[in-house]
Amino acid sequence: MSRIVHAILPDHPRILVDCDGVLADFVTPCLEKVFALTGKRFHHDDVKEWEVPIAVGLTPEQSAAVYKAMEVKGLCRNAQAYPGARDTLDWMRKRGYEVLAVTKPFGGEHWVHERDAWLIAEMGFHKHEIQHARMKEAVVGDVLIEDSGENLRKWVAAMPEGKGVMIPREYNAADAWTGPRKSLGRDLIEWLDWELAHRRYG
Ligand SMILES: [Mg+2]
Repeated sequence: MSRIVHAILPDHPRILVDCDGVLADFVTPCLEKVFALTGKRFHHDDVKEWEVPIAVGLTPEQSAAVYKAMEVKGLCRNAQAYPGARDTLDWMRKRGYEVLAVTKPFGGEHWVHERDAWLIAEMGFHKHEIQHARMKEAVVGDVLIEDSGENLRKWVAAMPEGKGVMIPREYNAADAWTGPRKSLGRDLIEWLDWELAHRRYG
């Protein structure tokens, strides 16, 4: 464990958890806006690339229009949780891990406070545990759980003794990330327990 993290967190490993693509389904509401714009219906696992509208064949201009349409009131607050999201967080909390949400704000006037409200009401976070961060590599922790390979690479570069883990989704299956990929639930918890015990006592 790095000295800086060890100094801050001797006994309570800090787990950083991304929100979109990990806890909250960003793809489905995005595809709803694709449908509203184009009349074409797609489903979550049709999306095989990072940029959802581009992945389903829209132009960059249409893509910008879809993202703009997602800035409406209520969209972020009404996000659907991925199966196992809340249980996985609660298992981590019961183990004594410090769990922080680290989430990059999307655009518009409603996103940030609706994201706070969602994470508190649906995912059991306290407000101080929610970090709205455009640079996740600026947030200190022992583990980062993410769906973005780019974010994982930047964070691990900044936190060389930290561990990154990717939540597998169709749209990140081709990502160059060579570290672990673990699904929400027991698979992820068992990996965390092993890594953190090894790092504390190993
Ligand atoms: Mg994400």
